[in-house]
Amino acid sequence: MAIGLLLLLCVLVMFAANAYAQSGSVRLSLSQLGEPIEIKHDWQRQAGDSLSYAAVDYDDANWEQVALNAVWPKGGFPESNQTAWYRLRIDFGRQARQSPQFLGNLGLKIGRVYSAFELYAGGQLIGSRGGMPPNALPDWDRDLVVRLPPEAIGSDGSLVLALRIWGGPAAVTSRWGGGLYGGSLWLGDYFTLASEDFRTALAPLFLAALFLLSALFSFYVYSRSRSLHSYLWFAMLSSNLAVYCYSLSDLRFVVPLHFVIYEKLEYAAVCFIAPLLVRTVWSILEVELTPFTRALTNACAVLGAAIAVIPGLEINFGAIDIFRVFAVVLVYQYLRTIYRAWRQGDDRVLVFIVGSLVFIATSVHDLFVTLLFNMGPGNMLSVYGFFSLVVCMGVLISRQYAGVLDNLGELVSERTQQLRDANLRLVRHAREDSLTQLLNRRGFQESAKQLIAKAQAQGSTLSLILCDVDHFKRINDRYGHTVGDRVLQHLARHLGLNVRDVDILGRWGGEEFILVLPELSLSGAQTLAQRLCDSLPSQIFRIDGIRLGLTMTFGVAQWRPDDSLESVIARADVALYEGKTRGRCQVVSERPDASEAALA
Ligand code: GH3
Ligand code: MG
Ligand code: MG
Repeated sequence: MAIGLLLLLCVLVMFAANAYAQSGSVRLSLSQLGEPIEIKHDWQRQAGDSLSYAAVDYDDANWEQVALNAVWPKGGFPESNQTAWYRLRIDFGRQARQSPQFLGNLGLKIGRVYSAFELYAGGQLIGSRGGMPPNALPDWDRDLVVRLPPEAIGSDGSLVLALRIWGGPAAVTSRWGGGLYGGSLWLGDYFTLASEDFRTALAPLFLAALFLLSALFSFYVYSRSRSLHSYLWFAMLSSNLAVYCYSLSDLRFVVPLHFVIYEKLEYAAVCFIAPLLVRTVWSILEVELTPFTRALTNACAVLGAAIAVIPGLEINFGAIDIFRVFAVVLVYQYLRTIYRAWRQGDDRVLVFIVGSLVFIATSVHDLFVTLLFNMGPGNMLSVYGFFSLVVCMGVLISRQYAGVLDNLGELVSERTQQLRDANLRLVRHAREDSLTQLLNRRGFQESAKQLIAKAQAQGSTLSLILCDVDHFKRINDRYGHTVGDRVLQHLARHLGLNVRDVDILGRWGGEEFILVLPELSLSGAQTLAQRLCDSLPSQIFRIDGIRLGLTMTFGVAQWRPDDSLESVIARADVALYEGKTRGRCQVVSERPDASEAALA
């Protein structure tokens, strides 16, 4: 209700603003031209074509009198497919002639036509749009602003304007009417008229640039994150709107793309807007398209493509009517989807509702203006309503983007943790023997070197034991490799339980184990080795019902200052070898001269 009243008020204000002095004198004084003035006075009209009608002194007394309104009647437009003349005499009085500067700056602006026209002032052609018959060439959607030649105003201060106009194809005029639909004829300061015209042309160009930026940004976001489908649809919608806005701006003719038929671009873009809008909204709300809606959107797109490529289809009313039917059904689908999402408690819908209400209000306004007051497109607001709808979509997809960024943050920290864990596992695996879970050769070397460095720094000592299972091959040969493996596991556990916490135990390879014993001298290490050696014969390993016993031989060496790990191990290995040759199952310590022998 409130919206209705507001709309009515809007319409009345615009109507009042437009409906000023329709009649009056054709006599104008200089002071009246402080601002451009719209000439809606009665003109003299003559059907038929004779170039002598342009002449200043032509007698048009018996011509028909008509008002040159912004929009000429539909259907009854008299000039369809033929040429007619309009003449108007404006009298500035003698004083005008005495103001050369004033005359030099005078200009005329003539609105857009659906066909073609020529404008004469003081008997000379001052501007035209399109081609007059016989080479009839419609050139619509273009204003014309021309400077009035000072000599066009006669010595008595009178200006004779003659407008030769071609009605255009009957199909167009009977549908849309004809004449100067973008405002009729304006007279005033040339610079004011031209700059205002430039500003009018700049607005759609500015919008086109905005949409283009929005499209580029959205394409970029989509290219970085392919799951954001709404960005792809929004990017396509924005590109399409950029094309549409560009095709509406008069400045498009600044770039001489003669092969482009802008009407085609405009109508094709209109056809693409509806399906792209639907696709964008649906993907923002994450709603599946029903087969019917999908078919309809595809049909609109096909129609748009057809208009773009099939010659002459741009002003085909059949195509436009088909599109209108499609669009109405799609609007219904749109409202129904919004309503459903709202019922399901989707709060994003509120943004759509705001945008849609603005769009609907502006569309209703335009309908009133067109149907009731026969006003031209200058008073249309639905473009802004539509723009607000697109802005709402932009707001929603950026919210979606923010959501994705949040998820991304969580995902990154989760993945980082997983990576950290995997790294730790890798490091452990690199140092660990998979069979016995003791340190492997590399892990042992790293740890032992740290202990040696520590002993070196603290001036303390440490010893090393290398031990090897006696006749292990026999166990393998007798019970198989699997049992042999299990024996090694049991043995590793047994050794681990019988050393100190500070000692480092590792698997040196095969059935050989190695120990570093911090703070232990050779004799201390020898005692520990002996204890281990003695513990084994009484130790029975039970594996799959098999009872197994074994012995080991031990080689012991003490680290000396400036000794390397390799040299201590070499001395222990010599001692171990000696133990083996002496009959196994015993502990042998390094001999004082073993160092040189081992290295030799
Ligand atoms: P010695 O008393 O002289 O040390 O006799 P030995 O049989 O223990 O000596 P040798 O070095 O000839 O044999 C060691 C055997 O240990 C040979 C190899 O098949 C076995 N072996 C090495 N690593 C593994 C392992 O991981 N699992 C099993 N089951 N056997 C292994
Ligand atoms: Mg062995
Ligand atoms: Mg061995």
